[in-house]
Amino acid sequence: MPVDVLIPETDLHDRVRELGREVARDYAGKPLTIVAVLTGSLIALADLIRAVDVPHRIGLVHASSYRGASTTSSTLVINEALAPDVADRDVLLLDDILDTGQTLAALVDHLAVRGARSVKTAVLLRKIGRQTTPIEPDYCGFTIPDAFVVGYGLDYDDDYRHLPFVGILKD
Ligand code: 5GP
Ligand code: MG
Repeated sequence: MPVDVLIPETDLHDRVRELGREVARDYAGKPLTIVAVLTGSLIALADLIRAVDVPHRIGLVHASSYRGASTTSSTLVINEALAPDVADRDVLLLDDILDTGQTLAALVDHLAVRGARSVKTAVLLRKIGRQTTPIEPDYCGFTIPDAFVVGYGLDYDDDYRHLPFVGILKD
């Protein structure tokens, strides 16, 4: 399927590095753990942490809501097997995209219950006009229109993650 470029590679690179430097400033001297939501935020994580030049740990969490391109909401399943120990850590939760807000809100609660000292959120993308669960991300890369996007980690049916840009999938 054809993909129209929405955010070019250089813009992603520049903005993610900028967020990384902001995170480094905000978390200097704190026990930071960056928890990335698999699988979509992997590339953003790899780029972000190379600009976070203060000591920090990495954690991964797998959450899936079992839905395809339609993005109709359904139940969120959190994979406990990968859950990092966040007790007494200042957690920055990183996701690829804030759509309805359900995933991020549920994971924030989950990490708080697991004993995190604080939980803040970072999203690469925020889709406008789709949010149903009130949550304000503390760091946001780009706001985008209501379209299904792929690339830079984001998939459609487990493909397109490798694209170096974020694009709109046209069918
Ligand atoms: P939310 O819980 O905020 O509705 O959904 C967030 C999750 O839905 C993201 O982590 C992502 O996996 C998926 N998602 C939402 N919109 C898109 C999109 O436009 N493209 C892709 N590839 N995934 C999306
Ligand atoms: Mg996701």
